[in-house]
Amino acid sequence: MSAEKPYRLPTNVTPERYELKLTPDLTTWTFTGDERISIHVHEPVREIILNAAELELHAVSLQTADGKVREGRVNLDAENERATLSFAEPVPAGGGDLQIQFSGILNDKLHGFYRSTYKGADGQDKPLASTQFESTDARRAFPCWDEPAFKAVYQVTLVVDEKLTAISNARVVRENALPGNKKAVVFADSMKMSTYLVAFIVGEFEASAPVMVGNAPLRVCAVPGKKHLATFAVDIGKASLEHFSAYYGIPYPGDKLDLIAIPDFASGAMENLGAITFRETALLVDAERATRAELERVADVVSHENAHMWFGDLVTMKWWNGLWLNEAFATFMEMLAVDAWKPEWRRWDSFTVSRAAAMQVDGLKSTRPIEFPVERPEEAAGMFDILTYEKGASVLRMLEQYLGADAFRNGIRLYLRRHGYANAETTDLWDALEESTRQPVRALMDTWIFQAGYPLISVVKEPRGLRLTQQIFRYLQDGSDRDRKWHVPIFLRAGTKSGVINKTILLADREQHIELDDAVDWAVVNAGGHGFYRVRYSSELLDGLKQGLQKQLSAVERFSLINDTWASALAGLTSLTDYLDLIDLLREENDVNVWTTVIGSGHHLERIVDDQQCASLERRLGALLQPAVDRFGWTPKKGESELESQLRGDLVGALGTIAEEKACQQRARELFAQYEKSPDTVDRNLIPALIAIVAHTGTATDYDKFYGRFKNAQTPQEETRFLFALANFCMPELVDRTLNLTIHGEVRTQNSPYLMRGILLNKRARVKAWSFMKSHWDEMLRQYPDNAIPRMCEGIIGLVTPDLEADVRQFFAKHPVKQGTKQVEQHLERLRVAVTCQERWRDLLRS
Ligand SMILES: [Zn+2]
Repeated sequence: MSAEKPYRLPTNVTPERYELKLTPDLTTWTFTGDERISIHVHEPVREIILNAAELELHAVSLQTADGKVREGRVNLDAENERATLSFAEPVPAGGGDLQIQFSGILNDKLHGFYRSTYKGADGQDKPLASTQFESTDARRAFPCWDEPAFKAVYQVTLVVDEKLTAISNARVVRENALPGNKKAVVFADSMKMSTYLVAFIVGEFEASAPVMVGNAPLRVCAVPGKKHLATFAVDIGKASLEHFSAYYGIPYPGDKLDLIAIPDFASGAMENLGAITFRETALLVDAERATRAELERVADVVSHENAHMWFGDLVTMKWWNGLWLNEAFATFMEMLAVDAWKPEWRRWDSFTVSRAAAMQVDGLKSTRPIEFPVERPEEAAGMFDILTYEKGASVLRMLEQYLGADAFRNGIRLYLRRHGYANAETTDLWDALEESTRQPVRALMDTWIFQAGYPLISVVKEPRGLRLTQQIFRYLQDGSDRDRKWHVPIFLRAGTKSGVINKTILLADREQHIELDDAVDWAVVNAGGHGFYRVRYSSELLDGLKQGLQKQLSAVERFSLINDTWASALAGLTSLTDYLDLIDLLREENDVNVWTTVIGSGHHLERIVDDQQCASLERRLGALLQPAVDRFGWTPKKGESELESQLRGDLVGALGTIAEEKACQQRARELFAQYEKSPDTVDRNLIPALIAIVAHTGTATDYDKFYGRFKNAQTPQEETRFLFALANFCMPELVDRTLNLTIHGEVRTQNSPYLMRGILLNKRARVKAWSFMKSHWDEMLRQYPDNAIPRMCEGIIGLVTPDLEADVRQFFAKHPVKQGTKQVEQHLERLRVAVTCQERWRDLLRS
């Protein structure tokens, strides 16, 4: 067994409780550790195998139930990240205590036990240490059974300088003063959980005053000087935790909850039980000055992580193939909680934008099924993508809407009750849902989970009803996989002579006739937009919808119509002219998400077309956007919603950038100058647009100003706004300056890869950016967190010329991105789609 799968641990010895004492040194960036693991030996063994990576093991002994102490010999296997502990005599079955002394490094790769620095209020660099263990990096901090199914209890002690704060998963039991201005912070036992959820954080921290959620105090922790940015997160933290306790019907399983902002953080946040870590922009925010979108991001991430405390932490996947369910479910729950907390944000409506982004990737031949077999744990790294999070959440939402919200929730409760403090597989969830709903959930979901892609539903009118046909949607059609079928929940709303009919149908066959009493005047086949599929209406049905665009269709349904038509244009199924004519009908449109898809397609088109076509595109978009900007004005109207304020900003930003409207650019510059003098006199939701326009048209003086604002920002949001805006400057010498920022240590490695992606996506900087990326590739691989590399590479979708495409392909053939093979393949195919469109559309937009 172990010979075949050296990356899987044997199960003949299992851990039950770890007593873990760690002493990090924040000056030498090292740590020492001492652990006692209570184990259960299931059969007599000569060897105990567990995980360890980048650790030195100094002394190992095992005390068995008979009181005998056995010394162990250590053999480290660096490749498989394992330690084999051998004993001279066999270890008998039964209980035992394994004692290990070890040491390791606080690395700079933002995984395992790692280091971070930040500027203190006194201008000095300050150190801190934090952990990030998912998926398999707990083994870099302490020897352990580092697989999710080996759940155990953790009792952590951290030995730190007396002036520092130490945080772990459970509450502090006591602090003991030690010689040399040190202290030992002793934490309570955690609940039984997986290694990847263990956390320890050491540094100077300030915490918000605790608020109680049930019996657990909740706090937000940040490095000194940022506590005032915690209020918003405390509010949504409490609200979402309470929401989930009620939804799941189970109290929060931890004994306290700290939400901790870490200055260097590879992903958005991490759901360590009781000690959730975040990048600063996802937690700390000035609720009075941040934009609605920035606030929504904090609300989303906090809710997402809190949802994991049950789904993920209390019940955990058996193995990494089940990771998608953790993430898809937490993403789904994040929408539910934010929607309940701030209904005026219409969170499920804006989720359509995320759903559409997932459909964009899932329409590629190089997409993947949501769940796939994972052998080696590192293969799970490829699961942290849009298909897991956004497609996964979309199909759960589709299922919830099909089954009914209450029935769905009852199934979830059953699943959590049944598998709490243990592990489960996807199929266990379908069992629970089938039991509580008596519906064939598994048959339906298997078509969505194990099958890549999604269907295009074609709809034609019949004398009494409609005929629906399903076929796989693909941007590049090569005729493959045309026999693929899904169980498609169809949410139908149709207008007939006798009124409006609502119907839910399951389309499982290739084709189905839907019988209605009357002839159909108009029909919406994905009513509410919950379905993960596209719809193609016959021309007479489409005409009916166009006439009733604002009357018969909800905002989400208009979004779907526009987005499906745009996808259809990219796939060559609809002409670009038809798409542009359709968006011309949106002059009265007031919905932010509908405009998001229109503006998004404008940016996409801009990257595809040549300079002459671009001028024509600008005129056309200007004619569409200008009336909308005039209608909304430049200042908030009394009583307008936050979404309307956001839309104003989006419209202005688009008019001043992709439409290149000169008067708009001028006005934006004036308002930006006013914002610099007195920030609070300009509406906060307009500021990102002003920044985007000033950067887009920016000079060296503007650049210096932006750089200064980035360096001296007052909030994490301000810092990233001005940093990422540097990618939008177009003058060649300014592009060079930004490129140099990506590798010379001035920008945190958590942000550099995304800055690089931004420059690649800037049409006027792309050639320089690509050549820079090629020549600094090795440095980037060395410096950036592993998970960021495939995301940075998304920028190549902007390199839309046949020559650049060929060069990009050649480069990645020689430099494969191991941790993101699939993602890079998808970026390359998206580039292929764009170059194909460039060819197809070369005679259009020439007037
Ligand atoms: Zn998550």
